[in-house]
Amino acid sequence: MRKTHRFARIAYLLLIALLALAQPALAADAEQSPFRLPELPYAVNALEPAIDARTMEIHHGRHHRAYVDNLNAKLVDFPALADSSIESVLAKVSTFDAAVRNNGGGHYNHSLFWEFMAPVGKTGEPSAELVAAINKDFGSLDAFKKAFSEAGAKQFGSGWAWLIRQEDGSLAVTATANQDNPLMDVVATRGTPLLAVDVWEHAYYLQYQNKRVDYLAQWWSVVNWNAVNARFEN
Ligand code: MN
Repeated sequence: MRKTHRFARIAYLLLIALLALAQPALAADAEQSPFRLPELPYAVNALEPAIDARTMEIHHGRHHRAYVDNLNAKLVDFPALADSSIESVLAKVSTFDAAVRNNGGGHYNHSLFWEFMAPVGKTGEPSAELVAAINKDFGSLDAFKKAFSEAGAKQFGSGWAWLIRQEDGSLAVTATANQDNPLMDVVATRGTPLLAVDVWEHAYYLQYQNKRVDYLAQWWSVVNWNAVNARFEN
């Protein structure tokens, strides 16, 4: 009898010790929601004059933050989100609901968008390999830029224009509505994003008002070709 009691006591102490060890980890998990707002890779005014500091502040600090917060809020309905990369969620986004589609897309698209821009002088140039691929599929770098800007200008309402690499290796320009993107299993043309521009009014309205075409023209001055080259090589 005494032996059983001692065993029970040891088991009980072990359990307490394990719970004490597990507690900080559980607390950290609660704090560390799986989806995080990335820091901007430059100061909010670093893209001026193409994009003003106030637009960057609101766009990153409020719009992108809201997509992250709203996506994390969906963990209640879809606990599997906690163990998923954003890319894998988007690849089967049709199995979730509209909020995951909109906010998951919003989080992914903006994370890319910040990386796809850099201050003037730090943007680099398209690599020889990228230029060769662009020449092959669009005729010239200028023809590609024209097609990309037109896709952004013609996107009715909110959305994005993309340069993607398709499964067969060819490059293509596409546009998506709202926060959809080429990784999603719900869009017409799928592929790996190499470059993207946000044509939601919140991306340009403070500075350009309704002149989306002017925003797109200025935007090329801050396109981070180093980032595009790196994605193209991978
Ligand atoms: Mn945006």
